[in-house]
Amino acid sequence: MKINDVYCKSVLSKSGIYGVDYALNPYTGCEHGCVYCYAIFMKKFTNHEEKWGEFVDVKINAPTVLSKEIKKFQKGGILISSVTDAYQPLERKYEVTRKCLNVLSNHDFPVTFLTKSDLILRDLDLIEKMDAEVGVTFTTIDENIRKIFEPKASSIEKRINILEKIENNYVFFGPILPVFSDSEEKIREAFTKFEEKNVKCIYIDKMNLYPNVWRRIKEILDHKTILAYQKIKESEEYPFLLKKRILDILKDFNFEYKVGW
Ligand code: SF4
Repeated sequence: MKINDVYCKSVLSKSGIYGVDYALNPYTGCEHGCVYCYAIFMKKFTNHEEKWGEFVDVKINAPTVLSKEIKKFQKGGILISSVTDAYQPLERKYEVTRKCLNVLSNHDFPVTFLTKSDLILRDLDLIEKMDAEVGVTFTTIDENIRKIFEPKASSIEKRINILEKIENNYVFFGPILPVFSDSEEKIREAFTKFEEKNVKCIYIDKMNLYPNVWRRIKEILDHKTILAYQKIKESEEYPFLLKKRILDILKDFNFEYKVGW
């Protein structure tokens, strides 16, 4: 793993994400190294030769830059981890995210988190003082599948623990993994688990097999599963059928939801 300390000029960027005004990403690159990671597009904006998941640039001056920027920006909602996970393992040592929260806790910007790491629980003391909601990402609730697709992110059990500890939470269920978590049985199982943990709101997204994502996914699947993925990739029907399946299942649950396609 190649780790660089870098100095950023700006850390709060305007966001085009629905319902979000600003994005804050204290790290470029992500140690979690999820196989399907869409943020791999960031690699072309860096000078890194390493593979995605094998480098991280730590914006060590992010808290100082943030403390100046936030005074100039109009109040608005901030999404932490819009691109890469702000609670990846390095954060335990660097505490850049925590220091940014220290700055944010002195301002009343609403903050939304999205993470796959229970390291976020370390910062509950600050989060509880803020107008904040915490999103936890799941692509499956099967720990064996999680280990294949998200080898360095927190276990399913630890992510469920975040939902138990933080009441103002939501689940981002996606990207749904074709073959592994897209059946009616698997989706129901996941939704039931979230409901048991009192999750009220769920965002759902399908897998987008962009060329650089597809290249990485093919490396970890066996031949039979590659063929199944290939079929799904070429299918115009799959997204519609999956959406219908999900909407039918959602009728049996009381979530507020948004399906992303
Ligand atoms: S946690 Fe998010 S940013 Fe990090 S590798 Fe996984 S998908 Fe990519």
